[in-house]
Amino acid sequence: MKAKKKDVRALTKEQLRAFFEAQGDKAFRGNQVYEWLWNKGAHSFEDMTNISKKTREMLEENFVINHIRVDQMQRSTDGTIKNAVRLHDDLIVESVLIPTPTRTTACVSSQVGCSLDCKFCATARLKRMRNLNPDEIYDQVVAIDNESRLYHNRPLSNIVFMGMGEPLMNYNNVIAAIDKITSPEGLGMAPRRITLSTSGIPKMIKKMADDEVRFKLAVSLHSAIDEVRTRIMPFNETFPLDQLREALEYWYSKTKSRVTYEYVVWKGINDRKEDIDALVRFCGYIPCKVNLIEYNPIDDGEFQQASSQAIDKYIHGLESRGFVVNVRRSRGKDIDAACGQLANKQV
Ligand code: SF4
Repeated sequence: MKAKKKDVRALTKEQLRAFFEAQGDKAFRGNQVYEWLWNKGAHSFEDMTNISKKTREMLEENFVINHIRVDQMQRSTDGTIKNAVRLHDDLIVESVLIPTPTRTTACVSSQVGCSLDCKFCATARLKRMRNLNPDEIYDQVVAIDNESRLYHNRPLSNIVFMGMGEPLMNYNNVIAAIDKITSPEGLGMAPRRITLSTSGIPKMIKKMADDEVRFKLAVSLHSAIDEVRTRIMPFNETFPLDQLREALEYWYSKTKSRVTYEYVVWKGINDRKEDIDALVRFCGYIPCKVNLIEYNPIDDGEFQQASSQAIDKYIHGLESRGFVVNVRRSRGKDIDAACGQLANKQV
């Protein structure tokens, strides 16, 4: 049986150079192919016009180029765009373009589905099928960058890993994708424009600090009380808040980069005074800011958006102690593109 061809984009530049050397060709040929794949976004070996026909045929015999395909693009009345992205094995993930007057942000997925079980999240209802490869993450960003230029007349300015999946459960591939996104041979984007948002896996936060990553960190906190957090994010039982706190203190000691806490306030779940007091205490541990996010109900179940008075109390509680707090209005609600709503509904 003929061996399955390998995705050429899984190879590093060094591996491509070594491949050509092993073929008795010049290592430099590897640089040329790499440039076609990553700088020029070639979708086929045929496109590589400065490579000889014989070499292109040899590449064709050995490799495939797996590209994502935007199957369906939905545009919201507020300018938000949601892509349903088909992968080479026909699985689907979603990514979102969020425009504001000053920036255009791509929200990208890192896994197909998710193995965590956050009770408020639509993605959690899809079981985890597999991790995305670095090129599949990179391609989502390229697709959104193209849409940003086309529909908003400007390039993408920021990226958040806040789509489907827990990025720290696919660490190596996410880091490889970010390397590509920030490399001059890729998109050349500044690392500080990228935010990795995690539900908070302590040992992986420490690993990121040890790896001296230069992107920003956000944590979906949603409660600073173990009992409440475990109810809405069951994995908190395994990684309780004191472990998260310790990991975040380690992160800050190593990176000096302040953390953003993502926080949704739900009616009857975390809208009490003791919830606010606990968050204020948690914010005192390391330099941080809080994003209070408007919730988008995924059904008529227990998670409903809190009243504006409850949100105001949070804002007052945090600001009166000198903490920075932003209220994030939800975007793209009409196309289910808002936070926690990504669930492949249309496909
Ligand atoms: S909120 Fe994030 S980590 Fe939690 S289930 Fe949804 S996708 Fe997974």
